[in-house]
Amino acid sequence: MNIAIGSFNTPNLESVQAVIGAAEELDVPVIIMHAEVHEEICPINIIGKVMIQCAKDTKVPVCVHLDHGEHLAYLNKALEIGFTSVMYDGSALPYEENVANTCITVSLARKKGASVEAEIGTLGKRELGYRDEKKETGEEPKQVYTNPYDAERFVKETGIDALACSFGTAHGLYLTKPKLDMNVLDEIKKRVNVPRVMHGGSGVSEEDYRTVISKGIRKINYYTYMAKAGGENIEQHFKVSSFPLSKDKKEYNVYYTVVEKGKETSIYYRRDCDKR
Ligand SMILES: [Zn+2]
Repeated sequence: MNIAIGSFNTPNLESVQAVIGAAEELDVPVIIMHAEVHEEICPINIIGKVMIQCAKDTKVPVCVHLDHGEHLAYLNKALEIGFTSVMYDGSALPYEENVANTCITVSLARKKGASVEAEIGTLGKRELGYRDEKKETGEEPKQVYTNPYDAERFVKETGIDALACSFGTAHGLYLTKPKLDMNVLDEIKKRVNVPRVMHGGSGVSEEDYRTVISKGIRKINYYTYMAKAGGENIEQHFKVSSFPLSKDKKEYNVYYTVVEKGKETSIYYRRDCDKR
């Protein structure tokens, strides 16, 4: 069957509850994930345990996944906490180094019965800004689309369960409508039989979603526009509220959620879902 599972970054309790709540409402399986770059928003030691606890006793299957693990020690920590799936991202490394670290990840994950996603080709930007902050130039970093022959070799050499591909999507907000290279996916489909993953899923059109799924994408990562919808919702709330967001010429970040009366989950992250 041609379906893909939605995979959402959930860096706080409210987003974990909202994503699982939405999946239960729609009666679909879901993947909640914590990205290594979100460690500064919420440490995995805290949010990882919350995610695993919330994933229990749900009405739908929930996978707890580590997104873009860049350090093996961090990956190991996720597995120790009980994540059921991990992504190792060595896409910025030379091919051989990416293979070697991915193989280590696979052997660590197998001991825990967890599955592994890895990436070849690069989306350029990380989930939270630039890959190498020191080299930030103000320009968009260059993407390297996945080479289908490298992808075939990579899957064989590492034994991974899912392959993240680069074919035109990007992390973060899209400044122009994303143009996806579907030929890359067609060529990968001929050579790779593990499920493929699309990162940078928010901002992609519904038509493109259907096309990529028909070409073998089975996991779609989605975060930015969900967080944006939440932020806009909060902004709207504060426009009609007297709560001070700035005082004495200083600006304050306020982390806030809005909960509909009679419902347990926050609408902070729910607006996108409600609009469909
Ligand atoms: Zn990603």
